[in-house]
Amino acid sequence: MRKVLVSGCLQGQALRYNATHVPVNSLIWDRWSAEGRLVRFCPEIAVGFPVPRPPAEIVGGTAGDVLAGLARVEEDTGTDVTSLFRLAARRALDRAVEAGVALAVLVDGSPTCGSSVIYDGSFTGRTVPGRGVAAEELLRHGIPVFHEGQLQQAAAMLVDLEQSGSADAVSGR
Ligand code: SF4
Repeated sequence: MRKVLVSGCLQGQALRYNATHVPVNSLIWDRWSAEGRLVRFCPEIAVGFPVPRPPAEIVGGTAGDVLAGLARVEEDTGTDVTSLFRLAARRALDRAVEAGVALAVLVDGSPTCGSSVIYDGSFTGRTVPGRGVAAEELLRHGIPVFHEGQLQQAAAMLVDLEQSGSADAVSGR
């Protein structure tokens, strides 16, 4: 059975910077949970950030630039947390590989977990298209990333992967 890496704050613990979680109202989620597919992981907590913590945003580039050392992640206090965010991304990848996940469903908008939008680095509440650092790292290593509003698409991909996996097994590939 294919597993799914999910943000630890999705329908779970209140791990976000402001000590909240992100509710999920979905039968798909409930089914995955009952089947034991969910691999819960919070990259930021894994590298020691506390709850609550100051909000952080990518400043001066994209998540790819952060991984390449060309942009920073800063807290709203001005503290540079780039190296911790890069480590958090690596930890997410390590966990995904260790658990053998087929894909990930992560919270959108986060400088770590975002996959379609992130905040623009001005700490004014504006968003721009973009990814968080962990989502970028997972995608670079071939792990598809969806956000919490894309559970149907994620479920469809999972079915495709499992069907092609069974076909591979039957044909001995
Ligand atoms: S890093 Fe990801 S899992 Fe952790 S609190 Fe932020 S959005 Fe949730």
